[in-house]
Amino acid sequence: MDGMAIYLDNHSTTRLDPRVLDAMMPWLTDRYGNAGSTTHEMGREAREAVERARDQVGRAVGAVPDEIVFTSGATEAINLAILGSASRPGRDRSHAVSLATEHRATLDPLAHLARHGRAVTLLDVASQSASEPCGTVTADAIARAIRPETFLVSLLLANNEIGTIQPVGEIAEAIRDRGCLVHVDASQALGRITVNVDDLGCDLASFSAHKFHGPKGAGCLFVRRRGRPCRIDPLTHGGGQERGLRCGTLDVPAIVGMGAAAEIAARECSAEMPRITKLRDRLWNALAASIPEIAINGPPLDAPAVRLGNNLNIRIGGVDGQSLLATLAAEGVAASSGSACSSAEPAPSHVLRAIGLSEDDARSSLRFGLSRFTTAEEIDHAAAILAAGVSRLRGQLRGI
Ligand SMILES: *Cc1c(COP(=O)(O)O)cnc(C)c1O
Repeated sequence: MDGMAIYLDNHSTTRLDPRVLDAMMPWLTDRYGNAGSTTHEMGREAREAVERARDQVGRAVGAVPDEIVFTSGATEAINLAILGSASRPGRDRSHAVSLATEHRATLDPLAHLARHGRAVTLLDVASQSASEPCGTVTADAIARAIRPETFLVSLLLANNEIGTIQPVGEIAEAIRDRGCLVHVDASQALGRITVNVDDLGCDLASFSAHKFHGPKGAGCLFVRRRGRPCRIDPLTHGGGQERGLRCGTLDVPAIVGMGAAAEIAARECSAEMPRITKLRDRLWNALAASIPEIAINGPPLDAPAVRLGNNLNIRIGGVDGQSLLATLAAEGVAASSGSACSSAEPAPSHVLRAIGLSEDDARSSLRFGLSRFTTAEEIDHAAAILAAGVSRLRGQLRGI
């Protein structure tokens, strides 16, 4: 533990892998050339490092290097996908389809389009599932939402709050001939499940390095060039970098770090996820055994095809999530009540509300995300702290 926090907030960000830092270090120090200034050796070696990283990221997700456009992160990649496909010249399509449970990085650019006269359909996922709402959407529901004027369907591959894995491959196959692009926000997926852009059947896909033990400030957009090439418009205009799709001097150290992290994630995912999933189950079992009125939000834990193995989202009857988080934080345990981007505001999670939870239930929910660096000792310790915190809060509630 290094005397540090027990970090169970790995959906908001992850620890930089020391191997990634090693790969980045030369590019943060002596090798500071501009990858766009290749008339000399320092620029050329930077360019080569970027192209190596492009190859590593491409291989990790089943793309060819030319299909990878480096960005500052997934937020920028998603904005590029959504706004860049909306503004393609010569296209008068005006409608986009997505889900109410998407990340803000998708919902907000869609809202921006809506303010500027486009139509946006956000599918409600609560009504789609059986008794316990899982947040999954069916190919049929997506197909029914598409109109002749739809230019984009945007879907989260794996949800950042409740871990729901959408059947994106099936959906893309079902709507293949409808004439719209398919964008996948795969930020939470790489390193946790196998990600292959051809199996997903998508035209565009977004990734974020800091979600798989790479550096913050690096991400990419996959833009398909093989088969049915996908054309989108840039958001930034300038020096022509990244085929003109993302202009601006490349952040070589961050890109090198993303390449190294992607290679490790793809290589080690299938070996490390069973251990991480077991720890997640251990956490749930410990909590379920010691806390009355506790329940799981999202898909069942024993369904690895529909739920990320490192994700746990729970609700604890009658306990305020923010108070419990504060109790945990005081004891050095980092967890979350929802997506990091909105946790400063008191509103309950829009994801939990969208899968049908009441406002009270959403407010009594907590999210845990485990990682490569999580240990069994940390899990046992966190479970004990959480159980003690719940009894204390419930005791206060009853005036004890
Ligand atoms: C973190 C995250 C983003 C935003 O990624 P940044 O690289 O931090 O901009 C978008 N979508 C999902 C699902 C995420 O988890």
